[in-house]
Amino acid sequence: MPLYQSDAFVLRTYKLGETDQIVVFFTRAYGKLRAVARRSHSPRRRLAGYCQPLTLLHTILFGRPSQNLFRINTIDIVQPFRVIHEDFGHLRSGLYLTELIDVATHEHEPMPELFELMHWSLEQLPQTGHPAMLLRLFEVCLLMAMGYTPQLMYCAHCMRDLPLQDGEFSPPLGGLICSSCAPAMRQTLKVSRVALEVLHHLINNGVDGWSDQHFEAEVEQEIEALLHAHLTARLGRELKSYAFLHL
Ligand SMILES: [Zn+2]
Repeated sequence: MPLYQSDAFVLRTYKLGETDQIVVFFTRAYGKLRAVARRSHSPRRRLAGYCQPLTLLHTILFGRPSQNLFRINTIDIVQPFRVIHEDFGHLRSGLYLTELIDVATHEHEPMPELFELMHWSLEQLPQTGHPAMLLRLFEVCLLMAMGYTPQLMYCAHCMRDLPLQDGEFSPPLGGLICSSCAPAMRQTLKVSRVALEVLHHLINNGVDGWSDQHFEAEVEQEIEALLHAHLTARLGRELKSYAFLHL
């Protein structure tokens, strides 16, 4: 039976019967894969302990390519990210990123750029003085990887080019709308020129442009509201872990 060897993060686990567990991995090489972690035999119990989110693992899974459920051969911890696990603020941010990866990915679809983004973000998280902006950068990079880059260059309704100025964003349309189209639109968000400049920077530069920069609270709130509305419109649902970010 073929072996599937890859670095991986755990996205979530759920029970299978009384003793076993299904582990949903996000692997660098193969994308999302599900595997059974048997807990009924003592030598395997250790495996289940390793299967928690926010830990970089090296996994060897085995199973047939046509199967949706793999078995775990070995798991080794490569990078435990203890600092994240020991701090509630880091932990809830990390779990939010984990949920975003889970909703954005499909089984057997490798997305190595998102794997690298996750790894990079977990390394940055304990170091940055501005974790909220790191989450915004992650959201932008994730949206781009999904093909949902917010449209900021032209009106998402009539396609007219837009100058860089205060404007309105339509989450259902996924972009800015011009002043002629805006009155007929519902559910729009006002967005300032400064917030748009920051968004342009995030979109154009990605992680390479990360500078741990802090912006005025109002600007950060505008960016968060816009990206959150855009994300939930694209995903069609609210993210469970989002509510915990502001506890
Ligand atoms: Zn328009």
